Amino acid sequence: MLGRILLILVLVGLALLVLRWTIWKSNAAQRDSQRRSDGRNGPGPGPGASQPDGKSASATSPLVACEACGLNLPKADAVWKAGRAYCKAEHLPLDR
Ligand SMILES: [Zn+2]
Repeated sequence: MLGRILLILVLVGLALLVLRWTIWKSNAAQRDSQRRSDGRNGPGPGPGASQPDGKSASATSPLVACEACGLNLPKADAVWKAGRAYCKAEHLPLDR
């Protein structure tokens, strides 16, 4: 009697483990594909994206990160203020 209950418990436990593993696996695959297609919503390619049509001038320029949104952009294309780089004028701090 007790052995039967134990057997059922073990089977249920195993089933839950398999279920969890399956969900975890599908979640991991989803996250992976999401990460690949998840670009920053700003203009131009996001960080890590290949730049097949990059400008020759900015291709050699080192990258800097925007202080506001963290977007990486060529140093030459950045908007500079007080020694900090920004990707566009809208991201400049609003202090006067
Ligand atoms: Zn920015």
